[in-house]
Amino acid sequence: MANYKHILLAVDFSDHGIEVASRAGQLAELNHAQLTVVHVVENLPITEATYGPIPFDVDFTQTLLDDAKTRLAKVAAGLNVPEERRLLEMGSPKLEIVRVADENQIDLIVLGSHGRHGLALLLGSTANGVLHHANCDVLAVRLKND
Ligand code: AMP
Repeated sequence: MANYKHILLAVDFSDHGIEVASRAGQLAELNHAQLTVVHVVENLPITEATYGPIPFDVDFTQTLLDDAKTRLAKVAAGLNVPEERRLLEMGSPKLEIVRVADENQIDLIVLGSHGRHGLALLLGSTANGVLHHANCDVLAVRLKND
């Protein structure tokens, strides 16, 4: 079996993320593969109808992006992933992870079996969506619900 050449680690900064990150790091080392890290900032469903008038003028999106960039840099630095392979995207996590994988000739996506969205499930919704739509191998690192 040929080695993986380019591995994509999808991180959501949930508590178990460190386990998923270290598995991706190990696999990259064993396969002598490049490692790219991606985080997707979800579009905020904030509307006046949902929350009532928003009383102050804050750019939530920019705040979220800045915060995500700092967290992503921390994870990536721990894995020696250079800046050009730290990807911050916006939109639907499952769709963006698959798109980034296609555009970067990724041959293995590594993610957690669940994260922020999937604690009650065997597979979270992002993991499930990526498994269904990816055009390459996907490793869902089994995370326990503790
Ligand atoms: P979920 O299916 O949403 O519970 O999450 C499963 C896994 O998908 C997580 O452990 C992460 O590896 C990945 N993931 C979830 N959300 C994101 C996100 N916004 N950006 C990148 N990866 C994500």
